[in-house]
Amino acid sequence: MKILEDKSLKTTPIDTLGEFALIDHLTKDIKLENSSTILGIGDDASVIDKGDKYSLLSTDLLIEGVHFNLAYSPLMHLGYKSVAVNVSDICAMNGCAKQITVGLAVSNRFTIEALEELYEGIKLACKHYGVDLVGGDTSSSTSGLMISITVLGEVEKDIITYRSGAKINDLVVCTGDLGAAYLGLQLLNRENEIFKDNPTIQPDLGGNDYILKRQLKPEASVKYIKILKELNIIPTSMIDISDGLSSEALHISKASSVGLTIHEDKIPIDHTVMNLSAEFKINPIVCALNGGEDYELLFTVNQQHYDKLKKDPDFTIIGFVNDQSQGNNFIATDGSSHQLTAQGWDPIKK
Ligand code: ADP
Ligand code: MG
Repeated sequence: MKILEDKSLKTTPIDTLGEFALIDHLTKDIKLENSSTILGIGDDASVIDKGDKYSLLSTDLLIEGVHFNLAYSPLMHLGYKSVAVNVSDICAMNGCAKQITVGLAVSNRFTIEALEELYEGIKLACKHYGVDLVGGDTSSSTSGLMISITVLGEVEKDIITYRSGAKINDLVVCTGDLGAAYLGLQLLNRENEIFKDNPTIQPDLGGNDYILKRQLKPEASVKYIKILKELNIIPTSMIDISDGLSSEALHISKASSVGLTIHEDKIPIDHTVMNLSAEFKINPIVCALNGGEDYELLFTVNQQHYDKLKKDPDFTIIGFVNDQSQGNNFIATDGSSHQLTAQGWDPIKK
């Protein structure tokens, strides 16, 4: 009762903190008790010693109305995406996903057929990534659909890659291209608004297959992990790009106690993103920096690998690592230098 009396006086709204400050606030006093727990909170996955290898463990939550809108997210794609985003966190540790469990909260407006569709997507992704679905939990929900997936993966001890290993003068590299997923969301939102105003108008999504796929059915970077192995490259640090390039760069910066400098003219943008962003009057670089959900990898690597990376179109060198005192910098195409700030997607902050 004493505890209740004291605590009930204080009512701080959670949106006074952002997502990461809230996690820090709630977890800063947690002490790891088991010697097998190599790393707890703070990276893309936690790391557990399993003798010859490390196990990797991570959870991601997808909530209707926050992470997806069922007006334009087909349930099969949603099922696929919910697995892919979890596998992506295992890739970010340079590992390989092996098992998932699926937590599902569902309201009674869903039919069995609808949930079958969701599971078709989940099963398809499991097959694609070679992951076994080994359990979960199911409950009713009073406010829409919630999917919580936990993934278990593994990685050889000598190639595990944390957010914290970036070294001064390393190259900053990203995979694939950036900004498409955010633009896909803008496109779906626009067509949904038009449809709501006049349901006789059919959505105009033609010619934007790549951009829509990047939003609705993203892939985890399994293929890039494989290529890095083949090229004999172990990144010094790595993270998956779920909240936008700038936010992820700052995570590496903070975890590694270094600064990152990123060059605008090096950021890889697909030509379809260039074209559609002009139509939306959005700067495609802003989509890449602050958009999120691209699920590419951002990593740092020793300069000795420059030639191998330069030759491979899967990777783009976008900058370099500098001393922490020089901060995180964004060099615009006109040569001007700006401080890199995170305006990435935050589900908690207003
Ligand atoms: P990611 O974007 O890679 O999925 P998050 O930004 O969601 O990672 O989380 C950052 C870190 O905080 C991770 O190590 C994650 O495990 C941890 N974390 C997130 N939410 C919680 C929570 N409610 N309690 C404890 N740890 C959490
Ligand atoms: Mg991640």
